[in-house]
Amino acid sequence: MIASLLDVPADLPSAAVAYAAAGIRVFRVRRDKAPFANCVRCRPPTLQRPNPLYIEHLAEDCQCHARTCHGFHAATTDVDLVHHWWTEQPDANIGAPCALNGWSVLDIDPRHQGDKSLAVLEARVGVLPGTVMQLTGGGGLHIVYRAASVSLPGTLGPGLDVKHNGYILLAPSVHSSGGKYRWSGRGKFLQPDVTWPAVLTPQERRAA
Ligand SMILES: [Zn+2]
Ligand SMILES: [Zn+2]
Repeated sequence: MIASLLDVPADLPSAAVAYAAAGIRVFRVRRDKAPFANCVRCRPPTLQRPNPLYIEHLAEDCQCHARTCHGFHAATTDVDLVHHWWTEQPDANIGAPCALNGWSVLDIDPRHQGDKSLAVLEARVGVLPGTVMQLTGGGGLHIVYRAASVSLPGTLGPGLDVKHNGYILLAPSVHSSGGKYRWSGRGKFLQPDVTWPAVLTPQERRAA
């Protein structure tokens, strides 16, 4: 992974293209986080809504060409496709799957006492190594590490979530509170070169 500093454009469509061009997989996330619809071949039938055109497959094996199916599994570095997506939906937020981009992220939400949980955690395991950070528009913080090589738990305490199999929004996405996400390094993004601290991985999940 190339450690280059990315000057993130202020508008969502340009920023999405800039991330993709830098090799970061992105996908569209609506402001209310409602997922974009799957195409007919990717939409499992329900009792109320039979779907004879459905082709059974796993999200990660999807071969369809609509490329909006299955939420973050549609994330891409295809600059032309990303440009097309944000031309259709200029106000869409920018989602980025964590593990697929090589990241494991500690998500601190002070509205749910995440700052206190972090203090308790650091009292136990020591101060966490410094790395790339993003301020969420809602007063929270993302601490972005290079991905752990093992699966991680979803949470380390109240307001202290781990984003690994999931996704995060990237600057300048708009938080539900109205504030914008922002990288802490003067608004620039840098690929993290510090790996997820082993002390944050539960003992039974650590590689032998
Ligand atoms: Zn599809
Ligand atoms: Zn599919």
